[in-house]
Amino acid sequence: MFIDVDFGGVVNETIRHICKYSQPTPIQRHAIPVLMGGRDLMACAQTGSGKTAAFCLPIISGMLKDVSKRSPEEVMYPLALILSPTRELCFQIYEEAKKFSYQTSLKVCIACGGEPKSLQLKSFESGLDILVATPGRLIDFCEASKVSLKMIKYMVIDEADRMLDMGFEPQIRKIVEHTENPRVGRRQTMLFSATLPKKVQTLALAFLSDHVFISVGRAGSSTHLIIQELMLVEDNEKPQRLKELLDYQIANGNLGKTALVLIFVATKRGANALECWLNSNGFSAVSLHGDKCQRERERALASFKMGLTPILVATDLASRGLDVAGIAQVVNYDLPRDIDTYVQRIGRTGRAGKRGLATSFFTSKNSCIAKALSELLKECHQDAPNWLYQYAKRYMSFRTADYLRISRGYEYSVST
Ligand code: AMP
Repeated sequence: MFIDVDFGGVVNETIRHICKYSQPTPIQRHAIPVLMGGRDLMACAQTGSGKTAAFCLPIISGMLKDVSKRSPEEVMYPLALILSPTRELCFQIYEEAKKFSYQTSLKVCIACGGEPKSLQLKSFESGLDILVATPGRLIDFCEASKVSLKMIKYMVIDEADRMLDMGFEPQIRKIVEHTENPRVGRRQTMLFSATLPKKVQTLALAFLSDHVFISVGRAGSSTHLIIQELMLVEDNEKPQRLKELLDYQIANGNLGKTALVLIFVATKRGANALECWLNSNGFSAVSLHGDKCQRERERALASFKMGLTPILVATDLASRGLDVAGIAQVVNYDLPRDIDTYVQRIGRTGRAGKRGLATSFFTSKNSCIAKALSELLKECHQDAPNWLYQYAKRYMSFRTADYLRISRGYEYSVST
């Protein structure tokens, strides 16, 4: 058996023959027994850790024991709700949930923005057991009485930190705390988050009952399968350094259909500019950012996934959590300001047991992340360059001087 747990005949078969999973991932090994035991769960795990299966399999297994008892009029009320921040993530979860419920009578549906409501509503007509949804579209449907959550038995809040960053807290509270919906303790609630900021912990306290907490490795940590590389550059050198890096990958057969490169930039304008620059310099690239319409985003992503354009230039907003197999290298063309985002980004490579490479261009403007980066590298048993420690030290003493200036009543004029 995939894990020492019996999910039920058909599901066991699916895991073995369709998914072909032989070993559980760490989050699966720890979370599945907890969830099969009916407990609430707060788990720190990022996309790529196998968390979708960790929550879907126990839900599907539990539901299979229940659905046979449902009366025909109840089939329009979902038993499981999986909330996710973006349409792309919803589709990923939807595809996985459909795969896991293969050959069962369970019906998985989707409710997310960017698609005509009528199509989604039509799909509910033949039954609705598991609903994967973004908060906004779900509230629209609930307010129009197209969906009711009053029978919800399983509730998953995925990428909780991301949802809060995107300002979804009022919507999540509205959904979870709506008077008609089963209260805490009368449903099984699972909260997944890559990082653990205070606001996520507050949410967990409000939504979970006597929960088990599981953290796989460091909160949001990169795995040891990712080699992290740092290059000290000037801003104006970045295009040339990127070209050298990509030329090297091509020369070594590491760029193509099965070896994709994901490049992170800070702004939408930067993403467009770099996409243009790459294409005019002989590289096949597409970009993904919030200014692109849904169809453009889908097209870009599909072309990247299939390796037709093996380079994707993306901003954080558009790309977080995406599960694309075969990303051989992540490039932080522009480093983020915080370490959690860095960890999220590099986690796009080195997935499902494969090795990955993360290369970051560091400029003097990135000093604020130097200390956290050096600590992370140490934690991952990787060497940090000496200059990184120097930037970290200089930044910290600069901050201290700054602090002294404020505490002595001088004008605060330094922006960090
Ligand atoms: P997730 O973190 O749910 O986005 O999963 C990342 C990828 O790992 C998906 O493509 C899953 O199909 C795959 N995966 C999940 N569990 C396992 C497993 N036990 N063995 C191998 N691959 C897995």
